[in-house]
Amino acid sequence: MIGKTKSRHVIRVLDPHVANKIAAGEVVERPASVVKELVENALDAHATRVEVHVERGGARLVRVVDDGSGIAREDLPLAFLPHATSKLSDVDDLESIATLGFRGEALASIGAVSQARIVSRERAAEAGFEIADEGGVLSEVRAAAAAPGTDVTIRNLFFNTPARARFLRSARTELGHIEDLLRCFALAFPEVGFRLVHDGEERLRAAPGEDRRSRLRALYGRELEGRLLAVRENGVEAYLGPPSVTRPNARDLHFFVNGRYVRDRILLRVVKDAYRDAMHGGRYPVAFLFLEVDPATIDVNVHPAKAEIRWRDPQWLHAAVAPLLARALRGADLSVSDAGGGSGGHAGGQPGDREEGVRRAMADFMRRAAEGHGPRVYEGEAPEGPRQGVAQGASPPEPPLLGVFQAHDSWLVCEVEDGIAIVDQHALHERVQYDRILKRLSEGGVDAQRLLVPEEVELGAADCALLEESKDLLARCGIAFSPFGDRSVAVETLPAVVPRARAADLLRDLVDLLRARGGAVDPRTLFHDVADTMACKAAVRFGDRLSREEVMALLRESGALDRAFVCPHGRPTVWRIPFAELRRRFGRT
Ligand code: ADP
Ligand code: MG
Repeated sequence: MIGKTKSRHVIRVLDPHVANKIAAGEVVERPASVVKELVENALDAHATRVEVHVERGGARLVRVVDDGSGIAREDLPLAFLPHATSKLSDVDDLESIATLGFRGEALASIGAVSQARIVSRERAAEAGFEIADEGGVLSEVRAAAAAPGTDVTIRNLFFNTPARARFLRSARTELGHIEDLLRCFALAFPEVGFRLVHDGEERLRAAPGEDRRSRLRALYGRELEGRLLAVRENGVEAYLGPPSVTRPNARDLHFFVNGRYVRDRILLRVVKDAYRDAMHGGRYPVAFLFLEVDPATIDVNVHPAKAEIRWRDPQWLHAAVAPLLARALRGADLSVSDAGGGSGGHAGGQPGDREEGVRRAMADFMRRAAEGHGPRVYEGEAPEGPRQGVAQGASPPEPPLLGVFQAHDSWLVCEVEDGIAIVDQHALHERVQYDRILKRLSEGGVDAQRLLVPEEVELGAADCALLEESKDLLARCGIAFSPFGDRSVAVETLPAVVPRARAADLLRDLVDLLRARGGAVDPRTLFHDVADTMACKAAVRFGDRLSREEVMALLRESGALDRAFVCPHGRPTVWRIPFAELRRRFGRT
């Protein structure tokens, strides 16, 4: 600083070009952000059809064409100006925003970092006009041939901000984000037609004029849609997946508030709470929640990309929405609707599924018929009478087991030498499987089963690419697959311990794991995670009826009754209640 005359720090107002480039950093993170802003504008203009064309993941081109209201000639230059919007006129409007856009900065920000062009024609107008914005430099408005509506083309995103361009991921990854985004728009606006075309290939098509159910079916497949439980009451519209379909993260929880897709921690809590009794705390359900609320009760102006909102009265959600969902889940006979036994895979209606369904329905019927007779009692392994550890040959000492029964197809209640033990069957089995799988993984690889008919799993382009990169690791896990189109894989082998019905679930979880871990990871670290994921899929579930042999095998293998275990997630698997505790509880001391 000494001697450097030029180094005085002076506060200056930024040149608008620079300011816009900085603002762009907030709004325009990647091609999907451009698509988001342009599609929001189309929807705000009441379009009934929105077409999105993308080249090379959007880095080279994003073009959104709508049949909405169009922009008047004199407004065209304003569209690219920062803080120029037709959607707000004074501060009070900020209190009750009913449109998706409102800040008037998206087009300015996008234009600052790309070569942009708008061609637009108002519905009633004779002709259209166009204007270009090249890195923040506006062209004249010129007449142009155009159909009614607006056509916005964004070329060479970040051409003048190379530092940002370097952050762009592969075209497949960027396309994956764009696809996710369009699915959300398509869900939020079932009456609007959407089409996404990438490098000339159609990636998504949703016909205009659909209702929510048919949209869900079109986007997520008939199998999942058919299992969703609908709730419609008091401005709440929800589609809830059965508790047996679980995910390791919140990716398949979709929240929409007044047509806006949002990430929201409070809604996440509300939905998780509704599933609390039916699902273990570390897992997430599949659910779509659409709320229509008075715009004055939320603040949408808290996040640069408008992806989050603030509730003026979050308590209302807990008080009004949560019970509605919980009641719906309780009321539904999910054990029956879940009879397919699958968990998120598609290929519904396969003969195997049906058999399994019948088997379960029968089991359910028998259980109901037997109600009033109390839970079934398994006689113990060991003979009656006073007992010591019953040693059998040289095998590990057998726990001094007296009697066991399976309560509610979920817990094993066991007499043990010094009291009673209650076992969480899923958690315990998971632990057993985890240890076994981890051992096999580090020794060379787990046993695989070859599927007679490959199981097709739809994952989306980006996730397929990710799996492809990890092919060797997956082979070691007993999973072999080949690409099936570019959005799906055909699974040819599965780990022997994982039932086919859980193939899709397993793959999705592994994809999440690989994504979370990034590309370069030490396989040893990954093995723990993989073993964890696989163990969860391989373990018997809560609600699975076990045969006497299965119960005994599980208890014997785990040695659970010798030690108090915890499952791989740290939850306890066994709860021992010693006689002393029982005596104390019953006031017998
Ligand atoms: P905002 O959406 O926050 O108002 P934008 O920068 O996204 O700001 O757009 C600026 C303005 O340009 C909008 O307020 C709207 O009047 C006009 N506009 C942009 N895109 C469209 C479109 N597809 N159809 C009609 N008008 C549009
Ligand atoms: Mg906008």
